[in-house]
Amino acid sequence: MSEKALAEIVAMGGFARADARDHRELAERLSGSVSVRVIVSEYIRVDLPVLEQAPGLKGVIAYGAGYDHIDVDSLASRGVVVCNCRGENAQAVAELTFGLLLCLLRRINRADHWVRENEWIKAGRNLPGWVMGNELQGKTLGIIGLGQIGSRVARIARGFDMKILGYDPFAPPVANTFHKMETPPLEELFSSADIVTLHVPLTPETDRMISARALAMMKPKALLINTSRGKVIDEPVLLETLKQNRIGGAAFDVFADEPISSDHPFSKLENVVLSPHMGALTQEAGERLSDAVVRQIRDILEGRRPECLINK
Ligand code: NAD
Repeated sequence: MSEKALAEIVAMGGFARADARDHRELAERLSGSVSVRVIVSEYIRVDLPVLEQAPGLKGVIAYGAGYDHIDVDSLASRGVVVCNCRGENAQAVAELTFGLLLCLLRRINRADHWVRENEWIKAGRNLPGWVMGNELQGKTLGIIGLGQIGSRVARIARGFDMKILGYDPFAPPVANTFHKMETPPLEELFSSADIVTLHVPLTPETDRMISARALAMMKPKALLINTSRGKVIDEPVLLETLKQNRIGGAAFDVFADEPISSDHPFSKLENVVLSPHMGALTQEAGERLSDAVVRQIRDILEGRRPECLINK
């Protein structure tokens, strides 16, 4: 949260950091406090046991776009308003998607490490074969999920002269026309895309949507980028697919179980790029998110409908 936003929250009545590792600790910290009106949570689960320890709770704000950590239905049944901050961090995630993609295509992170390890001076003009990369221009990008992030990814992809395929059964068709994309069935997207990028929320439908079947449909050199949620991918199946080089490579900002250690099997693979769930972490997005949190706290406390209400 920005300093400015925190100062505004103090002016509204103050705040306390929960410093909890999980929802049990959060419930313990709350311990029946009637003065807690709003909880802002980025990752920690907020559910009925938490609500029971905060009987004055009016609203829960997911700090970010994803809200799979909030038990929306249970909170709704008790009249608690749930909202997120969708859109505020979308540009940051869309840009990181291309950062990861370019790292995969041009092996920028490996090259950086190689130069720092003094290998260039030893090799002279005989650069290793892996420096030979590929271009984005003319490639087919398959975007799954055409919301705030997916549509921005499409806009950036147009600048790279890519062909765009999109899949989102719930997106308004006008968005697809605007982004000049084709919207084939999901199977066709998997089999035609050179790069598949995931921008869906984690739901029962998207849970492990990147399955053995989906991976088997992908081109032998296809790349997979995941900045959405780790559980959208069946990780053990993808691990085997990558080990056997049955697709070209993958880049992940998110994992089924976070954080991951250097022993994680993905860390051992050269056709993989990893980042620590930092998609939304730009100063600009942080400021926009903080402002959105303040606006929505004010709305909740003053009985107005917050701009990103989820449990309508
Ligand atoms: P959004 O709600 O604007 O867009 C999600 C889109 O996915 C919607 O258009 C929805 O119709 C579509 N969708 C839902 N179910 C689908 C399905 N089964 N198949 C295809 N499309 C489906 O959200 P957003 O802001 O674009 O964010 C998307 C997700 O990215 C979030 O839910 C969150 O999990 C993740 N995220 C990650 C980071 C990060 O730091 N890496 C940051 C922000 C968001």
